[in-house]
Amino acid sequence: SPHKAHLAAVNVSWCSTWEIVQTVVNGTLFYTYSVCSIETTEQDNWLRTTFIQRRPGTSRVSVELSFVVRDCNTFGGASVACKETFNLFISEADADVGTNFRKGQFRKVATIAPDEVTQGRVLKVNTETKTVGPLSKKGFYLGFQDVGACVALLSVRVYYKTCPSTVQSLAVFPETVADALREVEGACIENAVSQATPRIYCTAEGKWVVPMVQCQCLAGYEATGDSCQACKPGYFKPSVSNDLCQVCPDNTKPSASGASECLCEEGFFRAPSDPPTSASPPSAPRDLTSMTLPGEGKLQLFWSPPLVTGGRSDLMYSVVCKLCDEASCIPCGEKIRFEPGPTNLQDPTVVVSDLDSHLNYTFTVEAQSGVSQFSAERPTATITTALDYTDPPKVTEIHLADRSPTSLSLSWTPTRRPPAHINHRYELMYRRKDDSTEGDVTTYKVLILDKSFVQIDGLLPATTYTFRVHALGPEGNPGSYSLMHVCISVIYTAYFLIMTFSPDQHKPLKMYIDPHTYEDPNIAIHKFVTEIDPSVIGKQKVIGVGEFGEVFRGVMKIPGRGEVPVAIKTLKPGYSEKQRQDFLSEATIMGQFSHPNIIHLEGVITKFKHAMIVTEYMENGALDTHLKGRDGEIPPYQLVGMLRGIAAGMKYLSDMNYVHRDLAARNVLVNGNLECKVSDFGLSRVLEDDAEGTYTTRGGKIPIRWTAPEAIAYRKFTSASDVWSFGIVMWEVMAFGERPYWDMSNHEVMKAINENFRLPAPMDCPSTIYQLMLQCWLHERLKRPRFLDIVNFLDKLLKSPESLKTIADFDPRVSIRLPSTSGGDGTMFRSVAEWLESIKMSQYKESFARAGITTMEQVLALRHEDIRNIGVRLPGHMKRIAYSILGLKDETSSLSVFAV
Ligand code: AMP
Repeated sequence: SPHKAHLAAVNVSWCSTWEIVQTVVNGTLFYTYSVCSIETTEQDNWLRTTFIQRRPGTSRVSVELSFVVRDCNTFGGASVACKETFNLFISEADADVGTNFRKGQFRKVATIAPDEVTQGRVLKVNTETKTVGPLSKKGFYLGFQDVGACVALLSVRVYYKTCPSTVQSLAVFPETVADALREVEGACIENAVSQATPRIYCTAEGKWVVPMVQCQCLAGYEATGDSCQACKPGYFKPSVSNDLCQVCPDNTKPSASGASECLCEEGFFRAPSDPPTSASPPSAPRDLTSMTLPGEGKLQLFWSPPLVTGGRSDLMYSVVCKLCDEASCIPCGEKIRFEPGPTNLQDPTVVVSDLDSHLNYTFTVEAQSGVSQFSAERPTATITTALDYTDPPKVTEIHLADRSPTSLSLSWTPTRRPPAHINHRYELMYRRKDDSTEGDVTTYKVLILDKSFVQIDGLLPATTYTFRVHALGPEGNPGSYSLMHVCISVIYTAYFLIMTFSPDQHKPLKMYIDPHTYEDPNIAIHKFVTEIDPSVIGKQKVIGVGEFGEVFRGVMKIPGRGEVPVAIKTLKPGYSEKQRQDFLSEATIMGQFSHPNIIHLEGVITKFKHAMIVTEYMENGALDTHLKGRDGEIPPYQLVGMLRGIAAGMKYLSDMNYVHRDLAARNVLVNGNLECKVSDFGLSRVLEDDAEGTYTTRGGKIPIRWTAPEAIAYRKFTSASDVWSFGIVMWEVMAFGERPYWDMSNHEVMKAINENFRLPAPMDCPSTIYQLMLQCWLHERLKRPRFLDIVNFLDKLLKSPESLKTIADFDPRVSIRLPSTSGGDGTMFRSVAEWLESIKMSQYKESFARAGITTMEQVLALRHEDIRNIGVRLPGHMKRIAYSILGLKDETSSLSVFAV
């Protein structure tokens, strides 16, 4: 801390005080503040620091104490008054009041108890850190109250955390005080720019998270570590980008340092719209050939790309057709068609159609690029070719020219005139129409003809014949047929069997499939999830921050449903492929679920640079935040209804063989109808996403307060450990978002659980519900109820609401531990106003005054109905005031433990 403070023992006239004592701890000499007045009761010895200035902007500081406490047993029976704890107090002030010390100005922060007391000569040094805040005045004093312990205070360290000034992805962020999750704006470093202001979050732990930075080095500069350096001579970078400087391309002059382009050498060119990396026009196309295509008058030209492309990617070709004789050439004219076109061809091929079979065509192909216009030379390739008649024409129609009772005269027209040098032949096949019924074999009469007409004699009168004609190529290969029935036409009716299938994907999946079982996560996701077109999504407002980026409220246009509100989870820019897959794994998992109490996935956007996960929108956000401050506003019946929903969702998940591992009220979302839905899936979520996650001795992060002992101890995560977490969620819900185990440390929680302590019933909690919680927290996991049992049990309670009437025993001493609720006999508050202020209930100052409650003695005598009569109506406020009074009466409150 930049503000050093010294401790001073303060003389309170009527008691003995702390002394400075030389103590040897582990061979080192220390000066300690010590007190050891254990002979008589009613000790009240104070030690106070000098004024500690609060740095503006910090509202919370940490106080780390190291101290030694002597075991009372070592004094034998000599001292009945001996204690083993002392108290930490704070008093805020806008100015240094010097040695003027008033106990009443201090409010209690915590009771400090040693982990280990000292019995013999070896001193056991304890270290304890407490967070104090919110602070608002210019500074503060810390006070240490001894009430009869034998204590030596070795050191007091007062500090706050900051996120240190940092450079991330080419943006610089200032040092920022870390006392809550806070968004911080930064700026791009020198020679870098960005369209959006760089942003990042500073966590309460002093860590930078979720950088949203798009800074890029200017043209002529490249990123080297945390700076943008000018390109070296001979190198260049053309634009603002994340690219590195590149060597000047061939045929350019060497550049100077910091160049954004390299100038072309003589004879080389660059178009204005060109990247500065290319310089010369392409050479001629090579190996131009042609091939006649099946069909009418079509041929295809092929060629190879030029040897010199000039290093450009905009290479294109154009084709010109001419009809040439020895003397001159004329254009082929409009009639000829090119597919895909005569110019701007990207592939080295083109199909030419509507050609005449009698003519020789000359095709000229030119390769072009964006710099061709600057060059006088036009390198081209040329071929002269004609249609090649390996391919016979088609016969599309047969005409009946004449008939007699026993003969028919037929003629037909081929699609193309046969060239003079090739003699086309036709094959005519015919049979009686009803001959097909004679056995399996169909027999035709076949005639090969070299003319396109024929007369057939010797036919049966009044009989239907079928004729088929096709042209034969030079090798006798057939062209397309033409078919004709003469005399009577026959109509066929065909029946089709229509088969109906019930496609598999409409049946509910029986088993959850871990996305890891797929080698390619991109296949896994599209098996379960719909890809959404980004154009139907509109983002509106940031509503949260997840591990991978911001969460937005937005709308999705759905044909027939109009615009529906959705939540859009985004992947921050600059992610790695691994992060992208982890991000999308949540959708792969969510997409397999379909249940009213599981957050519904609308779809994903993966084919777009910024991947997104789109889910239904839950108006009331996370369950814990939704409940906080609503003490008593929601009746128990409704809370139990919410729990029933969560249990139903969890039953569904356990039926699917899915173990959630991070069930907690913060991971349940609430919609406008107060329906609860389980959320937060994904493979990495417990490991990285959850701020509650704590590294265990075996590595890996676990949200200790919510996790069953067997899962903490040896990672036995099962539906039964989810049931334990569900019990904690029940407690969170019934306690209106209170933090489980309050400010106990994770270590203390684990210790208490192993010693068979359990959370006490929240205030006003139905006894049946608390009993269910205790069942969920049975040490032996196989004895815990299953989600099926829980849903059935809650259904039963909801069907007979009187079952919720009996309220579980409630011990106020452990349920509320506002730092300032305990203070012995109430004398630490000089006035009723000061006391109300300390419990943040100043709004009732006047009501108390009006009711004539002006001294703390009167406050201590208040009963429930008195408080109500004073005008305190809100149940939450009622509770806070009533239990603060209880706390004032019973100073031991903050030391109580709860046991089952
Ligand atoms: P997550 O990354 O899922 O923990 O989301 C971060 C925060 O965004 C949550 O704590 C919620 O406040 C909010 N959020 C996430 N999904 C939704 C949703 N479907 N509807 C409303 N708020 C949401």
